[in-house]
Amino acid sequence: MSIHPIDPRSVDVAAFAKQGGDESGSCALVLLDRLCDEAHADAKPTAAEQMQWRATGESRPKRGAEAEVWLHLEGQARLALVCQRCLQPVEAALQARRSFQFVAGEEQAAAIDADSEDDVLALSRTLDLIGLVEDELLLALPLVPRHEACPQPLKVRDDGDLFEERVHPFAALGDLKRKLPSS
Ligand SMILES: [Zn+2]
Repeated sequence: MSIHPIDPRSVDVAAFAKQGGDESGSCALVLLDRLCDEAHADAKPTAAEQMQWRATGESRPKRGAEAEVWLHLEGQARLALVCQRCLQPVEAALQARRSFQFVAGEEQAAAIDADSEDDVLALSRTLDLIGLVEDELLLALPLVPRHEACPQPLKVRDDGDLFEERVHPFAALGDLKRKLPSS
């Protein structure tokens, strides 16, 4: 029985691994809320932008025991993040690749995960593969996104800290008060 093509939002991992499944596809970035939250407010993903993914299943024979269930995931996407130096959008190429072993039950997963270099998850009837790739891409975000060379010149304070050229909120408030008609 073949499960091709799979629904990436609801994958039977055990079956996918058993038949050595190999699937790839893409998903609109706008559907990935958590990634979109990380994008610059002025440069949110457009409807055309996609996250690419690939999943391969593997049934790894084990002597004297049931075969291990493995899922190898890859994902990539481009996202405009907030440059931590000039606060303008800076494009980042996100890439993730990780292998997961699936075992029966949360308890066993936690026990094996503790001494495994790979991630161990509990098998469920339906795995949201897209959500898992999104998790990995979130982990792949740069810690401090910034341009190699910022597009706009920056002002530098005497103490060396960078600051934005904008009106201090209290100064703006004072301005507003003066503009209000006095009663
Ligand atoms: Zn910058």
